[in-house]
Amino acid sequence: MRDVRNTGGVSRRRALGMGVGASLSFGSGKALAQQAIGQPLIGNPALPEVPQSRMRWAIVGLGTFAVGQVIPGFASARHSRMTAFVSGNRAKAEELGSRYGVSQFFGYNNYDDIGDADDIDCVYIVLPVGLHAEYTIRALEAGKHVLCEKPMASTSAECEAMIAAARANDRRLGVAYRVHFEPNNVHVRDRIANGDLGTMRFVSGDHGFDANPDWPPHKWRLEKELGGGGSMYDIGIYGLNTSLMMVPDDTPVSVSAVYSTPEGDPRFTEVEGGLEYRLRMASGISLSGSSSYCWNPYVSRQRYFGSEGSIEMQPATTYYDNTIRLEEAGKPPSEYIAGNPIDQFAAQLDGFSQAARSSTEHRTPGEMGLRDIRLIEAMYRSADQDGAVVRL
Ligand code: NDP
Repeated sequence: MRDVRNTGGVSRRRALGMGVGASLSFGSGKALAQQAIGQPLIGNPALPEVPQSRMRWAIVGLGTFAVGQVIPGFASARHSRMTAFVSGNRAKAEELGSRYGVSQFFGYNNYDDIGDADDIDCVYIVLPVGLHAEYTIRALEAGKHVLCEKPMASTSAECEAMIAAARANDRRLGVAYRVHFEPNNVHVRDRIANGDLGTMRFVSGDHGFDANPDWPPHKWRLEKELGGGGSMYDIGIYGLNTSLMMVPDDTPVSVSAVYSTPEGDPRFTEVEGGLEYRLRMASGISLSGSSSYCWNPYVSRQRYFGSEGSIEMQPATTYYDNTIRLEEAGKPPSEYIAGNPIDQFAAQLDGFSQAARSSTEHRTPGEMGLRDIRLIEAMYRSADQDGAVVRL
């Protein structure tokens, strides 16, 4: 049976003529897409069983994260399975397809043909940031639900266009903030909501790594066109989004930020190498953080201080080994693990599948991605004025 969202073999996008995306300039997005020739296969994932009768997914961009984490995550998913790969490297797509039981392949040159594929319900965009908006909007206009990797897009204008396209096509749009599905972070969120730390006083997050300009997945992160921004866009956004997840009833009212890019470092001619920020929240607390492309080893640390206790997570947002250190007034500190972090990938896929199936909002919707990009844009405005306070 054909998908009723399509019009007799013509994709919804073509049937609608000029779609929402057509009104937005992607800068050089189209040109970047034409250069999207694909990259070699990195990693060697094991073959999981392919479950049936679930929401059917196409994975767009078979890079480090898709191959190493996203695709293996389907093995333990209960509501999601893969039916298509989109890649600029057909041999890699076929090799992965043979391992995972996927036999439908698209390139970037015939990407819009996904609209004619009845066995694709959801599309997962795992491309460089500069391509997120274009490929998300084209999938939405092809009648598919879209989960897009973080950060949502290069600019808030692109995020707004993505949200508009989702509304115009009555499709769900989510941003892949996996931490919202990671059991240790969910546990900490619930403890804070439960008042276990008393009244929250201060929240902070520090995230960084050492960017290697010679490694392809890092190389594009150092280019503004494909990376969108620098360390704050790519890695600092985990801290920002996770910190805000822990104080869901609070709202940022102002922000100040400074760059901490090493002087003369040749990696940072287009994007920042580091940034530190402080958000003033409506409740009066401050939420601060830092990001860097110049820290070795990798840093992923979140801290939550309340009137009656504190929690530190280090690492906080990794794939495999997040830990919780709790200190409560009058008690010895305890360090523990509340769940297996690897569960976050299947939980996120299934969460989105269920949202798409039931036409309900995903836990981390496009609006959340837009909020974060607007906040980072405000950080850049502040940092450009050497830390001046920017009202939100
Ligand atoms: P990679 O460079 O490893 O993968 C990107 C893939 O995109 C490439 O392998 C290629 O796939 C495809 N691609 C298409 N056009 C281009 C182009 N012009 N330049 C480079 N690649 C292109 O990056 P990552 O896997 O590290 O990141 C991909 C996305 O996932 C980003 O949005 C990133 O922010 C996000 N991410 C999220 C993480 C998380 O924890 N949520 C962790 C890491 C990344 P192909 O060869 O198949 O065409």
